[in-house]
Amino acid sequence: ELEISLKVVIVGNGAVGKSSMIQRFCKGTYTRDYKKTIGVDFLERQIEVDAEDVRLMLWDTAGQEEFDAITAAYYRGAHACVLAYSATDRQSFDAIPSWKLKVENECGEIPTVLVQNKMDLVDQCVIDPEEAERLSRALGCKLLRTSVKEDVGVVGVFRHLASRCLHE
Ligand code: GDP
Ligand code: MG
Repeated sequence: ELEISLKVVIVGNGAVGKSSMIQRFCKGTYTRDYKKTIGVDFLERQIEVDAEDVRLMLWDTAGQEEFDAITAAYYRGAHACVLAYSATDRQSFDAIPSWKLKVENECGEIPTVLVQNKMDLVDQCVIDPEEAERLSRALGCKLLRTSVKEDVGVVGVFRHLASRCLHE
């Protein structure tokens, strides 16, 4: 049987939870220690989506995002993209349109989802739900909310993207 493999890139400012999201989804683990990198290019996990076995390869950055130094190799051949920001970090939200452009410049139009992480920190949330919805509409990307810490919504992000890729 044909196996479907999808490369997914996860972009956004530093400290929004990209590496944590990848670890949570692929290994089922979470750590509070600030980890700059998971030490490898990508982690993978196989899931069943619409009765198809899909292998997702989730590409992490080794902190280069903070220096605007992500190389073309990171984006090369990507099938789908997660645009991630943190509910507690205004700058990370404001940076989303420029992250979208970077991905588009390297990959063209690929299935992309907007993810607001750290939903567990409700009392520290600095993003108005209305403006998040507005950005989602402006970018033409579905908005999903996650808490990688509490393991809420993470699987849904990757199921959504895999399903989009299968039906392109
Ligand atoms: P990256 O720079 O985008 O890869 O971010 P990291 O995955 O290294 O996470 C940065 C920090 O945010 C770490 O201390 C994580 O433990 C923490 N973090 C990640 N996701 C969540 C979450 O959903 N809730 C909370 N409270 N902290 C999170
Ligand atoms: Mg990281």
